[in-house]
Amino acid sequence: MTQTPDLLRDAIRTIADYPKPGILFRDITTLLGNARAFRRAVDELVQPFAGDKIDQVAGIEARGFILGGAVAHQLSSGFVPIRKKGKLPHKAVSIAYSLEYGLDEMEMHEDAVKPGERVILIDDLIATGGTAEAAVKLLKSIGAEVVAACFVIDLPDLGGRKRIEALNVPVRTLIAFDGH
Ligand code: AMP
Repeated sequence: MTQTPDLLRDAIRTIADYPKPGILFRDITTLLGNARAFRRAVDELVQPFAGDKIDQVAGIEARGFILGGAVAHQLSSGFVPIRKKGKLPHKAVSIAYSLEYGLDEMEMHEDAVKPGERVILIDDLIATGGTAEAAVKLLKSIGAEVVAACFVIDLPDLGGRKRIEALNVPVRTLIAFDGH
């Protein structure tokens, strides 16, 4: 059996200078389109929580929806979308967070998670951790117990993991790439 890190790494396409010069964009559409790699990534994200009671899987728009939906199905959990501002139809809670240039806002429905529910957060990649940090804070603000934050890809040089662990949320990642 191909080792998981090799299988996943080989299935991810790297695009230089996208969306801006100097960025190495880790494109997971090629992983999603590779049946073995997609299945393995989902199985590995699920594995630590098999047999655990996870009430909800929260996915960050947009790639976190694809992975998070599959993980929720495997865990027999609900799925909660965390979306860019202005996309959700019902009453939402929101949080501002900083991007490289300026601020953005993310939202979730205020009733998407009940107080005390056990939630895992899923996205494709953690870089600086700013996006995931905001998502964890949003989930906690409506009373979720955030059991873990899980990503296929870590960019460890950018320090995101420490930022999430500082919120007392364990981080799980499947592969790492040097640099940014
Ligand atoms: P950050 O908030 O810095 O941890 O950035 C994480 C978010 O930005 C995730 O939703 C990623 O999908 C996206 N992202 C950041 N850097 C990259 C990269 N090098 N390649 C692909 N996606 C990235």
